[in-house]
Amino acid sequence: MSSGDDYIIFGSPSIGDEELQEVRATLESCWIGTGPRVKRFEEAFAEYVGAKYAVALNSCTACLHLAMVTAGLEPGDEVITTPMTFAATANAIIHAGGVPVFVDCDRRSMNIDVNQIEAAITPRTRAILPVHFAGRPCDMEAIGRIASRHGLMVIEDAAHCIEGAYHGRKIGTISPITCFSFYVTKNMTTSEGGMICTDDAELAEQVKVYGLHGLSGDAWRRFSDGGYRHYEVVFPGFKNNMTDLAAAIGLCQLPRLVPWLTRRGEIWSQYDEAFADLPCWRPAPPEPGTVHARHLYTLLLDCAAAGLSRDQFMAELHQRGIGTGVHYRALHLHKYYRERFGYKPEDFPNAAWISERTVSLPLSAKLTPEDVDRIVTTVQSVLSKSRRHAPSEPRGQGESI
Ligand SMILES: *Cc1c(COP(=O)(O)O)cnc(C)c1O
Repeated sequence: MSSGDDYIIFGSPSIGDEELQEVRATLESCWIGTGPRVKRFEEAFAEYVGAKYAVALNSCTACLHLAMVTAGLEPGDEVITTPMTFAATANAIIHAGGVPVFVDCDRRSMNIDVNQIEAAITPRTRAILPVHFAGRPCDMEAIGRIASRHGLMVIEDAAHCIEGAYHGRKIGTISPITCFSFYVTKNMTTSEGGMICTDDAELAEQVKVYGLHGLSGDAWRRFSDGGYRHYEVVFPGFKNNMTDLAAAIGLCQLPRLVPWLTRRGEIWSQYDEAFADLPCWRPAPPEPGTVHARHLYTLLLDCAAAGLSRDQFMAELHQRGIGTGVHYRALHLHKYYRERFGYKPEDFPNAAWISERTVSLPLSAKLTPEDVDRIVTTVQSVLSKSRRHAPSEPRGQGESI
């Protein structure tokens, strides 16, 4: 089986009747561009996070890019980030004229290794861009300390971490700018979309202006029925505004974040229990005092012990009707980053090690108990059947990963 009705698609979104009705109502209203629903969605999201301002854009990539642009990078300015992330994180730095400087991730948390950040700081460093990998909040206390010691900005890539919290503070209220994603596979979706959260009124306004051609702030009132207004171009901006069609979906998804997180937590526990004795490493438990947003359940395969590669494992699951994902092949292994910066795999050994072994299992809240059982028994049978040797990678490494 490789397709058909009972194929479990990786990262399939939950879309219900409410979304259908709200999208229909939006179409019928003829306010399908940026309008009242975007405004309502921004207000509801700001309230959910506890941030003063939320600006909705058409992707998290646009949020990251505008965050970098508003940071005022000069050509050659450096931004520290992790190679264990999606391309958009580092691409955004480059598009704003900066240079991404990678710091290896920790094997266990898969987040940026805060102990290696200071060694990467140079006189050109302007900002740190941590990524809350898989929904696990980074060590924001350590990152904040380093940033203030060196006068650096912190901009968070919270694409995985809408529900996350760190020491009693929601992700989105800690740093000057936090970027969220509503891409199809994320914890909630608007089909395509993103949100910047900030407590800084001026910054929020700047993001709006830069995201709409650089038209003066008043331009947003074009999206109301207050009559025609002239605008001024104050910056050569971009076209990043969210549409009301997208916001209509987001408004329906937002109230479900909490029950969905609970459901993903249950699936997570079931996976943890079921895979305890298999030749793989399960995700580390959440750090004390944090809320893990449980975006990705990633197994690290002990390929030698299992007697199969990660790609073979994925192919076996695919044949049995289960879609999986890879998060990620580290950025320093990709052509552009290799060639432009001369990176070698061993420059970031933890990220390279994870890249070869990591596989993400379906974790959508809409999985039925039967789906989850099927995933569990399939993974168990593929991994235990394929086990041929005693582990050659010392299991003791479990302590160091
Ligand atoms: C999905 C993702 C992005 C990009 O989000 P889009 O909304 O698709 O632009 C950025 N960073 C990370 C870590 C992501 O997973």
